[in-house]
Amino acid sequence: MGDWSHKLLKWYDVNKRDLPWRATNDPYKIWLSEVILQQTRVNQGWDYYNRFIEKYPTVSKLAVASEHDILKLWQGLGYYSRARNMHHAAKEIVAKYKGKFPIDYESIRALKGVGDYTAAAITSIAFKLPYPVVDGNVLRVYSRLLGISTPIDSTEGKKKIWEAAAELLPKNNPGNYNQAIMELGALCCTPKSPNCPECPVQLACYAYAKKQTGMLPVKQGKTKVRDRFLNYIVVSKGDSLLLRNRKGNDIWKGLNDFPCIETEKAITPENLISNKELKAILSTANPVIESVSTPYKHILSHQRLNAQFIKIKIGKTLKKLPNDCFWAEKKKINQYAVPRLIERYISNYL
Ligand code: SF4
Repeated sequence: MGDWSHKLLKWYDVNKRDLPWRATNDPYKIWLSEVILQQTRVNQGWDYYNRFIEKYPTVSKLAVASEHDILKLWQGLGYYSRARNMHHAAKEIVAKYKGKFPIDYESIRALKGVGDYTAAAITSIAFKLPYPVVDGNVLRVYSRLLGISTPIDSTEGKKKIWEAAAELLPKNNPGNYNQAIMELGALCCTPKSPNCPECPVQLACYAYAKKQTGMLPVKQGKTKVRDRFLNYIVVSKGDSLLLRNRKGNDIWKGLNDFPCIETEKAITPENLISNKELKAILSTANPVIESVSTPYKHILSHQRLNAQFIKIKIGKTLKKLPNDCFWAEKKKINQYAVPRLIERYISNYL
């Protein structure tokens, strides 16, 4: 390993970004920051982190919060199951450990939603235990530094790098070292045009020496993205709008949107009005199409959502509300937790 780990740690000391969660050893705060940073950039995550900590400063406060309030605070971050899992895990910590965060890797890893990466980050940073963290940045840095050409998006590639990371981890300073290697990936060994001239581990770097920084890491291929076609029915009656609370195991569980008819391909509003499902929803209400939105695209990790919003006026009141739907006052619409796609529509059209 030579002396490059010392150089890396020195570089980290001087160059690390001053982030709120770096000023704490509180495992709850480190956990929250790691979950937020798995899905967003530091700049955007910073605000979410501060708002979250202000509202729920301890794990016990999070445990007694309502799911709706948590999702509302999380709105726009995406991956809402992570927020629900944190809530669930916070309740577990209160019930099983009287609100005191567990201090060993196995107990932390066993909490709902906590994977290898997050458990290693919490235990190494908060409790200084020797567990290597391997995120996307670390995979890229080690692939280049050690010249590992097994695809980093394969199980084998991840395992190889995890083993190397475990071996290289200094047992006396695991938390700082883990953060240093992640920071190197974020600031210096970036995906495109790594800043090798300024890199503290340049002398030890395989990719730099062999002029292979553009070839490493290797990736085996992109995950397939599925297209979905969502036709949202925006029904308004006086000052109210019909909202739907999402249940089941699909995306955005627990959040609110509008009644929706999903089709296999794009469909015109005229064809939609004769759709059986829509007829069942609006049965006796004499629906008239008031307006149709421009098409919306929304990209999730494995899905491309193609949405249109069809505003419908109804002549009579609905005899029976569709499943999981409820009337919400238009002026209070911003108080409901909604996915970003719906937020975009609301800010444009309502
Ligand atoms: S020398 Fe370049 S490629 Fe190697 S670790 Fe540093 S930034 Fe990455």
